[in-house]
Amino acid sequence: MSRIDAVVVGAGAMGAATAWHLARRGRSVVLLEKFSRGHVRGSSHGATRIFRVAYRDPLYSRLAGRAIPMWRELEETAGEVLLEQTGQLDHGEPVAIDEIESALRGGGWAYERLSSAAAHERWPSLAFDREVIYSPDGGRVFADRTVEALTRLAQSEGAEVYFETPATALRVADASVTVETPAGAWEAQTVVVAAGAWLTRLPGLDVPLPETRATAQQPVHFPIRPGYSFPSYVHHVGTDAIGHTFAYGAYGLESPGEGVKLGLDTEEEVDPDLQTGISAEALADAVDYAERWLPGADTSQVSAVRCLFTMTPDSHFILDRRGPVVVCSPCSGHGFKFAPLIGSLAADLVEGRDHGTSAWRLPAA
Ligand SMILES: Cc1cc2nc3c(=O)[nH]c(=O)nc-3n(C[C@H](O)[C@H](O)[C@H](O)COP(=O)(O)OP(=O)(O)OC[C@H]3O[C@@H](n4cnc5c(N)ncnc54)[C@H](O)[C@@H]3O)c2cc1C
Repeated sequence: MSRIDAVVVGAGAMGAATAWHLARRGRSVVLLEKFSRGHVRGSSHGATRIFRVAYRDPLYSRLAGRAIPMWRELEETAGEVLLEQTGQLDHGEPVAIDEIESALRGGGWAYERLSSAAAHERWPSLAFDREVIYSPDGGRVFADRTVEALTRLAQSEGAEVYFETPATALRVADASVTVETPAGAWEAQTVVVAAGAWLTRLPGLDVPLPETRATAQQPVHFPIRPGYSFPSYVHHVGTDAIGHTFAYGAYGLESPGEGVKLGLDTEEEVDPDLQTGISAEALADAVDYAERWLPGADTSQVSAVRCLFTMTPDSHFILDRRGPVVVCSPCSGHGFKFAPLIGSLAADLVEGRDHGTSAWRLPAA
């Protein structure tokens, strides 16, 4: 068994980005994925994700800003468009909109505050709740295409990629780690565990982790009514505005070829190995929501997909190193927009450099 620089466990957005960065830095890398190429059982599938610099927490505005040139570099290398800054709106809870305004102002980003009536006049596809802020730098990223591009580019830089090859256990020594799979074992200086909702299920991953929960999400798509178009939107829903059904929030965007996407955050905790079917109740909630808030959506037709969030208690990411183990779990429902940046930060950790943020540390043992 020859020793390589790194094994990356999980070929979702984060694992594929990490493998790409490591391979282009000349590191020997194996990327392991337990399911098939392009599978739809984790968090990274689907055509699009929202890209936004408009965050309540200025940390994530800054990081989104750092991610933009990395998206452009990835696009140039891949030869395809992966980030479109088509604009993004936040509306709803006044405290949330005020905090976003403060983060955008502090970061020197362009923005516009509008009344809900003025916003509806400009974007008639949406109805607006209380306060509105528009950020022209937001938009969308193309998710499936990004994962495929990162994987392809990692391979072209020399990474070995194995699909349908689960890591079944880690054996961690002081300065190396052995990663076992049904196809054999690899000894590496470092392992990067980017296993999404399966993070806590890898035998031998003996590092203290914050509590994480895998929740099932069911975004839906509606056809867009003729003459309408949608910016990316996030609705900061207060329980006072709509009631308990949509207590967490709603988001969506125009997803070319799919229609307008709508996600309503849910708390349905699931076993990631037990894939559940479409929930008729969640589908009905989505139609109810769209009839109230998405006048540009044709609610006579709806299609749904399932997707997993890996939630930490504070919605921060996990990106930290213990000995030869790097844990890379940037989800909590908002990680995709940072993928090229996260891959670079995870590769830095593999190489012994730490430029991460204190919010993402593993707890002390
Ligand atoms: C419905 C939905 C909407 C979202 N919307 C947005 C958005 O608008 N904007 C945004 O920025 N982000 C969004 N996100 C979040 C974003 O998609 C995630 O942050 C990101 O996809 C997480 O990627 P990941 O690589 O960590 O996880 P995953 O994509 O789940 O990848 C983990 C991979 O590890 C593999 N794996 C697990 N265990 C093993 C093992 N033992 N051996 C080998 N392989 C293993 C899994 O099969 C999986 O492929 C959304 C997520 C969902 C679900």
